[in-house]
Amino acid sequence: MADGATDEVIRVAGLGKSYVTAAGPFPALKGVDLTIRRGEYVAVMGPSGSGKSTFMNLLGCLDTPTMGDYFLVGRNVAHLPADELARLRNRTIGFVFQGFNLLPRMSLEDNVALPLVYAHVEREPRRERARAMLSKVGLEGYALSLPARISGGQQQRVAIARALINSPSLILADEPTGNLDSHTSEEIMALFRELNDEGITVVLVTHEHDIADHAKRQVRFLDGLIVRDEPTPRREAAPC
Ligand code: ADP
Ligand code: MG
Repeated sequence: MADGATDEVIRVAGLGKSYVTAAGPFPALKGVDLTIRRGEYVAVMGPSGSGKSTFMNLLGCLDTPTMGDYFLVGRNVAHLPADELARLRNRTIGFVFQGFNLLPRMSLEDNVALPLVYAHVEREPRRERARAMLSKVGLEGYALSLPARISGGQQQRVAIARALINSPSLILADEPTGNLDSHTSEEIMALFRELNDEGITVVLVTHEHDIADHAKRQVRFLDGLIVRDEPTPRREAAPC
């Protein structure tokens, strides 16, 4: 922010989303207030169907609310047209998904560079930045491999490299460890922690307490509402 007016990356007020269904409107999100500041690390929790993904899709400008306001880095984006939302999304937000979402026929380098294609960056600088991001996530030397040739944990690292390539101020991750074993999950969580330590704001959805405990703040959804919002308790020493 040029005027330093806000360190709020996200502020939502009365945010709601109703889906149109055959049985009539279904309110998946019923009026949520939440502020997330620069550098925060937030876990969004709650049972299946509580509205977590609906909320993340709104935060990620992948969908628009039917009620309330969303200020993204100070700007109300609740009612922006789709093309402006897409531009803002590409510049501001990096996404990480449960299923990695890599393109199978593209090299890892090209997968990572994809957001730069949309940002009209030339081929050579694209490749350089993609390779730099791959080494940042520990995959130096894998630039020309195909996604099927690497493990799930490595694929998620590639997805994180792709999320980082536009230097986003915000990383949104929906169940990023949902398809990974616990050891690999811990490695991915260590990477998120590193990114957060570098100042990137991280918001991630999980239904696992072990994963949520890596975040500094935990927000719990139930039936489309926030029912709890607390700092993560400090870890106690592990029992012998
Ligand atoms: P969570 O991610 O916490 O499991 P979701 O946000 O995916 O929850 O879903 C919240 C509720 O909204 C659920 O009852 C789900 O069935 C419903 N829902 C989600 N997406 C749609 C949609 N596109 N159309 C109709 N109902 C939906
Ligand atoms: Mg979900």
